[in-house]
Parts: sequence; C-alpha cells; structure tokens
Amino acid sequence: MISENMKNIEKNIAAAAVKAGRAPEEVQLISVSKTMPVELLREAYEAGARDFGENKVQELCDKYEQLPEDIRWHMIGHLQTNKVKYIIGKTALIHSVDSLHLAEEIEKEAVKHHCEADILLEVNIAGEESKYGLKPEDVSAEAEKISRLPHVHIRGLMTVAPAAEDPENSRVFFRRLKQLSVDIAAKNIDNVSMNVLSMGMSGDYETAVEEGASYVRVGTGIFGHRSYPAK
Ligand SMILES: *Cc1c(COP(=O)(O)O)cnc(C)c1O
Repeated sequence: MISENMKNIEKNIAAAAVKAGRAPEEVQLISVSKTMPVELLREAYEAGARDFGENKVQELCDKYEQLPEDIRWHMIGHLQTNKVKYIIGKTALIHSVDSLHLAEEIEKEAVKHHCEADILLEVNIAGEESKYGLKPEDVSAEAEKISRLPHVHIRGLMTVAPAAEDPENSRVFFRRLKQLSVDIAAKNIDNVSMNVLSMGMSGDYETAVEEGASYVRVGTGIFGHRSYPAK
C-alpha cells in the first residue's frame, strides 16, 4: 500500500518534471510522516524512502532514535526557539525558519554542538493571517541578516500554499515563491544559496514540480489520512 503509493507519486513527479522540461532527479519526495507510527515509517523506508518530514520536535526526536541512521530528517513545522536544542544536529534541513531570532538560536546551538545547520526560510506567500512565515517583502532583508550567522546556511525557500480543492489555484503561489528565490539569488548574498524550493503537498505536488519545486512534501498521499489533525 505505502510502497504502491510512493511508486505512483514518484511516477507523477517524474511526469510533471518532464512536462516542464526538468529532470526528474531534480525533485526529491519527502515522506511527511507526522502522527504516523514508527512501523509505517519503517514500511516506507523499506520501500526506499530516506527523506522524512515531521512537524513536532518531540516526535521527530522519538522517531530519530528508533529508525536507521541514513534517514534525512526534515523539520517542516513551526519551531519554537526553546526546542532548537533538541533537534540540532539531527535534521538534514529545517524548512520552517521564519525569524532572525530563531536563526540566532540555531546558530547558538550549532556552535554548542559543533555542527552546522542547513535551513530554508518559510514564506507566507499568500499573506494568510493563519499561517506562519515571513512576508514576501521581508524575506530578502531577513536573509541578509541571517547570512551573517556562520553556522547557519540558507539553502532556499519553503511555503505552504493556501488550502485549495483545485491544484491549479496553487500555481500562482508556487510561481511567486520561485520568482522570489530568483530575485534573492540575484543579490548574491554571501552564505545564501537559493537552490532549494520546498513546495507542494498531496493535493498540489505535481503543480509544484511544474513550477520548480525541488522538494515536495507528501503525507496523506503516501500514508493515508491522519487520524487526528496535526498542526
Ligand atoms: C502535513 C504537512 C504536509 C503534508 O500534507 P499532506 O496534505 O498530508 O500531504 C506538508 N507540509 C507541511 C508543512 C505539513 O505540515
């Protein structure tokens, strides 16, 4: 079931990439495993998944302890500064950095743990009240400030598009995020690269791939519906 879902999604990703004139290898599927029991993650792992996305620090740490070391863990949920110390050194990428303050905490903990941290800046691309993330117009200035933290490396941008029935409704937001990343890349800020775009979920990942996603974050499409809503 999980392996079949993954195969289908990989196939769809490849088709969307080719349609947009991109190489399928440019896109990495993240299996969003929040709320799912470790056995299901293991099943996905057996089927070839190595990139897992979690949105809660405690849950990420618990699963990190129980699963193979070659998994790349992605922190995709809102991160409180007081919890950075628990995940530092465990994540391949923190997708949800939305303030200098949080980045400074990551810097502090990275120094303490003798490691470095790759991050994405989360952008509230549609300006929704209910969403975390930087305002699009603030991203560039924030990136410049964060770039001065030597152990924190901005690799790109992440967004959660507004919930929509029709994936076509997400396209304009994905396009905006892509354009924002192009604009910031053109500034050639030291210690900032814009090679990564994390966008697209179960309902709209193909559209995201067409618009330049390098990571798509798919939960429901792989594991089925979550039994309780995860923020
Ligand atoms: C839960 C979540 C996803 C996956 O959502 P699905 O619709 O289940 O694919 C992706 N990104 C973030 C930030 C999430 O919190």
